[in-house]
Amino acid sequence: MRTTPVIAIHGGAGTISAAALSAGAAQAYHEALHAILHAARASLLGGASALDAVCLAVEMLEDCPLFNAGHGAVFTHAGTHELDAAVMNGADLRAGAIACVSRIRRPVRAARAVMEDGAHVLLAGAGAEAFARERGLEMVEPSYFSTEARRAQLAQAQGAGRVVLDHDGAASAAAAPLDEGRKFGTVGAVALDLQGHLAAATSTGGMTNKRVGRVGDSPLIGAGTYADDKRAAVSCTGSGEMFIRAAAAYDVCARMRYAGQSLAQAAQAVVMQTLPSIGGSGGLIAIDRNGNVCMPFNTDGMYRGHARGTEAPQTAIHR
Ligand code: ASP
Repeated sequence: MRTTPVIAIHGGAGTISAAALSAGAAQAYHEALHAILHAARASLLGGASALDAVCLAVEMLEDCPLFNAGHGAVFTHAGTHELDAAVMNGADLRAGAIACVSRIRRPVRAARAVMEDGAHVLLAGAGAEAFARERGLEMVEPSYFSTEARRAQLAQAQGAGRVVLDHDGAASAAAAPLDEGRKFGTVGAVALDLQGHLAAATSTGGMTNKRVGRVGDSPLIGAGTYADDKRAAVSCTGSGEMFIRAAAAYDVCARMRYAGQSLAQAAQAVVMQTLPSIGGSGGLIAIDRNGNVCMPFNTDGMYRGHARGTEAPQTAIHR
């Protein structure tokens, strides 16, 4: 029996600034999310694997400067970029990730190459870049990732002396419907394919003004990204340190497995109880093997959307 395919994507969570809430900006986000859902859904309906669909969606999100991943990534304290990404295939629990890279155009492709190579799960820094170059992946100058909006965000964060999540605290009021300095701008995708397989992918520039060498939850399997055909596929966005401490993505699957919770119960508990109890803010997107979609967040908003079968894709930013 063939499963109805489902794709869900996110472009970060954070604080909504009323001043930043221009209709035009919100529309740009909705249009970008719609275009990506349409493309990923078409590939799933055409028989693509969940893994292919999440990689396609995340590549498109990486290429879109509205989101803090790939082009448009945030700056470190030193004014550089350090990108992290991960993929996981629910059918066989294979996973690949890269961290702290600044020259790989599409970090999620490198994460997938690590997974397919199979020798390791996580490569970081210069070694990850050498691996990507060997695999023939497209390399760019680090300046490719820079945008003026992110530079302004760095100046603002440094002025305030804090490390901020991408969509938290606007760099410019016109830039985004969520407050840009107080938003988590990671991107991610989860999918269920026609064969009933699940996959998850996440990619990020991390946090504005982060210390050089800092690695967040996104590339850590079990923290920001996890997929298991028997439970769910999960991609997180938020204050990475707390997601790591909570093993957030895996905890959703563990609650389903050991406590018999539904996807909705498990995801709600992680996002609304466990994470806030240690000061964690953000959200996640998840799909279970029956195609249930859950996208909880404990911030004011999260750029998100999903598409099921041939139904019209739905996108949302606020509650
Ligand atoms: N979770 C990401 C990190 O900590 C940030 C984000 O979601 O925007 O690197």
